[in-house]
Amino acid sequence: MNKKTFISQATLMIALSSAICVNVNAQQKEYPKPEPMKPGMSEYWTPQPKIVTPGVTTVNAAITAPSDAIVLFDGKDLSSWESVKGGPAQWTVHDGVFTVDKKTGDIQTKQKFENFQIHLEWCVPENITGTSQGRGNSGIFLQGKYEIQILDCYNNETYVNGQTGSVYKQTPPLANAMRKPGEWNVYDIIYSAPVFKEDGTYRVPPRVTVIQNGIILQNNTTILGTTEYIGFPKVEKHGAGPIILQSHGDPSEPISFRNIWIREL
Ligand code: MG
Repeated sequence: MNKKTFISQATLMIALSSAICVNVNAQQKEYPKPEPMKPGMSEYWTPQPKIVTPGVTTVNAAITAPSDAIVLFDGKDLSSWESVKGGPAQWTVHDGVFTVDKKTGDIQTKQKFENFQIHLEWCVPENITGTSQGRGNSGIFLQGKYEIQILDCYNNETYVNGQTGSVYKQTPPLANAMRKPGEWNVYDIIYSAPVFKEDGTYRVPPRVTVIQNGIILQNNTTILGTTEYIGFPKVEKHGAGPIILQSHGDPSEPISFRNIWIREL
């Protein structure tokens, strides 16, 4: 080995050993981790949707189900429903309506659905108390995954992507169409189920239209994924799913439902 070759090899060895050192250092280097998600990180409060006073019902009669609808509650019993925890739905049926029993948890339809139109009516008790999300909170989960919020938003502000008629923590409603506590609110919801790719992502995302008391709140809105309390929407591959009604843990007086029917599309 001549002197020149020896120097070149020595230089190469030094370069290699320093490269290895750099690599080891890179493996050991600590980078900052993302901050843990907190509920407030996915909530925003402005602009608040405009308040639109719904038209009044001039004849005190609920509209009954159309001829091709599956009746999910007609005032008699909860035989079309079950507890999400298993066993019969144990919310309280009385006077042609049923009322959330917060001790027994969420209920869901026994039948599963894909694309549908659903009608349901809900009422916040006249003596409701609490503020923001802690006032008459419930919700309807489409295919068991995607919550359309139910909340008493009559003179009760909250983060706008958590208002009545929001796709929860995603899309605020186009208006605040609340009737006052003690009066019945009417939801008509039209839902298109997602289509999935092989890899579990959406080929066609779910879409929803929500009308409350004749006023449109969601206009064929794209649903981004599951409606998480903490964190971002998740895309989870699924098939047909139930309608879930939420038993929320807030301490306010429980709300009631009546006249629920669904038409498969
Ligand atoms: Mg809710």
